[in-house]
Amino acid sequence: MPELPEVETVRRAMQQHLVGRRVLGVRTSAKPLRQPLPAARLRGLAGDRFTGARRRAKYLLLDLESGRTLLVHLGMTGNLVFRAPGEKHDHVVFVLDREPPLVFSDPRRFGLVLVLDPEGEEDCPYLRGLGPEPLERGFDAAYLEAQCRGRRRPVKALLMDNAVVVGVGNIYASESLFRARIHPLVPAHQLGPDQLKALVREVKSILRESIRRGGTTIGDYLGSGEGGRFQLRLSVYGRAGENCLVCEGPVASAVLGGRSTFYCPNCQKK
Ligand SMILES: [Zn+2]
Repeated sequence: MPELPEVETVRRAMQQHLVGRRVLGVRTSAKPLRQPLPAARLRGLAGDRFTGARRRAKYLLLDLESGRTLLVHLGMTGNLVFRAPGEKHDHVVFVLDREPPLVFSDPRRFGLVLVLDPEGEEDCPYLRGLGPEPLERGFDAAYLEAQCRGRRRPVKALLMDNAVVVGVGNIYASESLFRARIHPLVPAHQLGPDQLKALVREVKSILRESIRRGGTTIGDYLGSGEGGRFQLRLSVYGRAGENCLVCEGPVASAVLGGRSTFYCPNCQKK
C-alpha cells in the first residue's frame, strides 16, 4: 500500500513533469473505483492546464488553471504514471499536450479520482478533520502532549489516527516507536516529555529518510508503471521472532486494532 513517502514521491514527479501541461482529453474506464469515476467532469478538464501539485495526508491535489483541483488517492494499488495507455487496469487516461499521457491504473480499485470545484476542498469529506502533517511544524512535542493528555488508548493507535497526525501508517508507527524506545501499547497519557520529544523526532526522521529513498525512484513514474516502492531498512516491522538489531533479543508482535504491531520487548519497556 502506498504510504505517505510514496505519495510524496508521486507528488514530486507530478510537480516536475505534469505542472504546465495542458489536458487535450480524458478517457475513463466504466469500472468504479472506491467511488464511481466522475466521467463527465473528468472529460470536462479538456483544455485546462495543470498549475500545481500538492499533497494533503495521502491525497494528491493537482491544481488546474480553472481553479478546479484533481484529487487522487492511490488506495492499495493505484499509481499515476506517464506511459502509453491500454493496459488491463488503466482507469483514467489524461491525454496531454506532450507525450506520453498520464495514466491512473489501479488493479484492486480502492483508489479515488475526483474533480473538486474551486473552493471545493473545504466541502470534501475526505479532506475534512485531518490532523497536521507530520513533517510540518505544527506536529511537535507540545502538540503531541496535548493530544495524549488524559487519553488511555495505546500510543501506537493514537499515532496512526489521522485526526491526530496524518500519514503515519503501520510501518512508520512501529519503526518510530522502536527508535524512540517506546512500547506500542503504552497508554498515551503515560508518556513523559522526553518520550514525546523523541517520538516526534523519530516520526519525522523516518518519514524524511523514506522520502529521500523514494525520491530516487521518481524515474519509475516516467514509464515502468512500478514506481515509488523503496526499501527502508526495517528494525522491527515484519521481523517477529528475528533478532533485534540493537539488543539481539527476539522481536515480538501483537495485534492492535486488527493490525499487527512489532516491537522489541527488551528495548521498548512498558
Ligand atoms: Zn531490542
